[in-house]
Amino acid sequence: KRQGRNRYCYFTYSMQETAKMRQRLIVDLHQALKENQFVLYYQPIVDLGKNTISKAESLIRWHHPDHGMISPADFIPVAEETGLIVPLGDWVFNEAIGQGNRWNLLFGPDFQISINKSPAQFTQKSEHHDWLDDLDVNGSNFVIEITEGMLIENTSTVEKRIQKYKNKKIEVAIDDFGTGYSSLSYLNKFDIDYIKIDRSFINNLSQGKQYQTLCEAMILMAHKLNIKVIAEGVETEEQKNMLIAMGCDYGQGYLFSPPVPADVFEQFMVQWQK
Ligand code: C2E
Ligand code: MG
Ligand code: MG
Ligand code: MG
Repeated sequence: KRQGRNRYCYFTYSMQETAKMRQRLIVDLHQALKENQFVLYYQPIVDLGKNTISKAESLIRWHHPDHGMISPADFIPVAEETGLIVPLGDWVFNEAIGQGNRWNLLFGPDFQISINKSPAQFTQKSEHHDWLDDLDVNGSNFVIEITEGMLIENTSTVEKRIQKYKNKKIEVAIDDFGTGYSSLSYLNKFDIDYIKIDRSFINNLSQGKQYQTLCEAMILMAHKLNIKVIAEGVETEEQKNMLIAMGCDYGQGYLFSPPVPADVFEQFMVQWQK
């Protein structure tokens, strides 16, 4: 903890990519689900035009009793392979819905929480999709983040599921945009609300004109298709100002805040509004 709250990779299961470690991880994941060792962190998404915080992305953390905080990058892939992503995803969804309902009272009716969905969650059976229709929530307060790859594979299943979210007024964002497939036809095929430009593009904004051109082109294309743009991984004032100049709608990154626990997020909101 002395290294700051951003550092949670004290221990990773991938440090030793052995079958034994993997087996251990699977056992630990089962235990973690039973004992509720997971926490949702939230990272603010800033409306660059208004300079307000209009959304928060929910990002899962695992508080391992022996190993401390473990990054989702280390356990989401294994959770996907083993099917554990289904109960895990249901936990995330319920948690985020509860937080969203509280925060709509605190931060106003337009505040949104975004929820990450990995490919396996879209193709495996018996997820909360089945009860989504009966769920008593204001869907327009939530955004589902999916990656481009998901729209290429299993298109008919995915299309149906996306439609279920849309019927519920839940919005859809394409995460890590620009790193996946080159075919952009899915942008027309599916009713997409946001693209999130991957942080590798934002990172290189000050490196040269080519990256600026790429970002500008993505923003222009999205706007022509009536899609809003969120820039991921905004770390410097310079990047923020360039994005504002390009007409980017939203920014997210360490410049504003790292992902933080819910109570810290609430304090952050109070400070921001001052
Ligand atoms: P993502 O959805 O693309 O989330 C953004 C990642 O970038 C987060 O990593 C966040 O902490 C990090 N980040 C944010 N701002 C900055 C910045 O300015 N600079 C840098 N270098 N990084 C920044 P995190 O929290 O480790 O999550 C990693 C990935 O794990 C996520 O990528 C997402 O794909 C997955 N994930 C996280 N939570 C969930 C979840 O609840 N369900 C599922 N299915 N996947 C999740
Ligand atoms: Mg995301
Ligand atoms: Mg992303
Ligand atoms: Mg990602």
